[in-house]
Amino acid sequence: MIININGFVIVTDPAFDKEGSVYEGARTLYKTGSPKLQPEDIGPVDLVILSHDQHKDNLDNAGRAFIKTVKQVISTPDAVARLAQGNVTGLNEWESVEIATDKVPGLRITATPCQHAPTHEQTKISGHVIGFMIEWTGQQNGALYVSGDTIYFEGIEEIAKRFKVHTAVLHVGKAGFPLINYMPITFTTEMAIQTVQLMNVEKFIPTHFEGWKHFNEQPEYLYDQVTHSDIKEKLVWLQPGTPTVIEI
Ligand SMILES: [Zn+2]
Repeated sequence: MIININGFVIVTDPAFDKEGSVYEGARTLYKTGSPKLQPEDIGPVDLVILSHDQHKDNLDNAGRAFIKTVKQVISTPDAVARLAQGNVTGLNEWESVEIATDKVPGLRITATPCQHAPTHEQTKISGHVIGFMIEWTGQQNGALYVSGDTIYFEGIEEIAKRFKVHTAVLHVGKAGFPLINYMPITFTTEMAIQTVQLMNVEKFIPTHFEGWKHFNEQPEYLYDQVTHSDIKEKLVWLQPGTPTVIEI
């Protein structure tokens, strides 16, 4: 996803490889859709926020090449060590970094907790994953939250206590694998609705729910469930490659 705040351009979890790409591993991943945009379509990028580097659906091969070209990447301390390139800043949960830019006064990014596994114990398998709270001076009605890969767990409730969120970008799709009986390792639609209600956000933007074989809830299901729920007026359904304007 591309976020443009007054000309300051942020890319989240960059994946630019084409449909049909296969990534062999303990859990082999299959890409079933191509991204609408390539780095050359986006233009200059000020910042990448990378939930985690260890999974190809968050950082694929072209995404890995891309993040070498941007000024700053914010991710986990583990990503700093593994990527071993000078432009990566690592944050642990609740740590913040201030970004000096004339375009967005007071821009601050805070790492939020994730549980990218069915249980807390299984996060040893997923590795460290973070989400992001994006704040700047002049926000009228709360912050911009990008969940990263997580399910609903007590950390989400802690985020809701600490921050007033205006817009929540949630990684939905119910990612899961046969080995763990398809138990969710990212938000199900139901968990996303629960989060939107808990945080009482104005806008809900689903992301990270299509283009990969391991996403176990289809976009049609997500759309149908949300538009038949009491949060339906909060839904912002993005169209790939088409900008949507939101006042935060
Ligand atoms: Zn992941």
